[in-house]
Amino acid sequence: MLHYVNATAMTQEEDILFFLSFHNNVEKMTQEELEYNNFPGFRTLRTHELHLDAIIYIEDLVGKQDEVEQRTCERCGIGYLTNKATGAFVTTSVCVYHRSKRPWKGKFDCCGKKQNAKGCCSADGHVDKRYALRSKSLASKKANKGAYKVLAVDTELCHTQLGYELVRVSAVDIHGKVCLDKLVKPKTPIVDPNTYFSGITRKMLKNVKTDALQAQQALLRLISPSTILVGHSLNADLMALQIKHSNVMDTSVLFPHFKGPPMKKSLKKVMEDELGEVIQENSGGHSSIEDAQACIRLVRHKLQKDGLL
Ligand SMILES: [Zn+2]
Ligand SMILES: [Zn+2]
Repeated sequence: MLHYVNATAMTQEEDILFFLSFHNNVEKMTQEELEYNNFPGFRTLRTHELHLDAIIYIEDLVGKQDEVEQRTCERCGIGYLTNKATGAFVTTSVCVYHRSKRPWKGKFDCCGKKQNAKGCCSADGHVDKRYALRSKSLASKKANKGAYKVLAVDTELCHTQLGYELVRVSAVDIHGKVCLDKLVKPKTPIVDPNTYFSGITRKMLKNVKTDALQAQQALLRLISPSTILVGHSLNADLMALQIKHSNVMDTSVLFPHFKGPPMKKSLKKVMEDELGEVIQENSGGHSSIEDAQACIRLVRHKLQKDGLL
């Protein structure tokens, strides 16, 4: 089976599967890379998976209803007070910010204004950069006969009172076919659905019943420990899903930033640079399906570029 006897008769997709199944040590992330890139469950030097200030565990907040906490807004940088357990605002003020986090060559991408210019967007509340996770435990998969060999995963997150929470999870197979696409109801009230980035509106979530745990279980049903999960900065998706997985091809690592890590190119930029294609131009925001499909195409492109297909 290991030689390409019928290689010419294979479709390109089968060819990729063939390659990945038998040669999957190539291009897969090493343990060191998983740790360096903040994949959940791989940090050995720290007690938490990410930097210590990056996670809020909801279970830790039980019984802290009377405590007030000072937070720093991820968008505008000002301090604001909230109820520690619920994240409800104790002080309110308008958040004025730029959508692009860092200016590029002295100007903000969102509005073209100079570095010190007042924000071009405004919102009714401030947002916390931390992930609000249900518990400290991470799920992982043991064995699953019907699992996909390769699956691209992408999630969308929104800003809730506690921080970032999952609102959508999507997965596509090696053909780009959708295997999973679920909207997810966050645990705490939404401050901003992050529509510009997530493509998700409050209206879309109105009748959604699926919670983050059910979304996690739905994804786990599709994978095995041997499944190669593909994604762009997949560490963030796995963090939001609270899943530990070590078989990973990450397009943010396969196509590095010219300045080297920890800088990373956006998926949009990688698609432009590598395939000359423009994605995420939809006025409705990103689509996690479109992004997952883009990742599959980039992995194929990478393997072809390296002469492995
Ligand atoms: Zn703010
Ligand atoms: Zn701006």
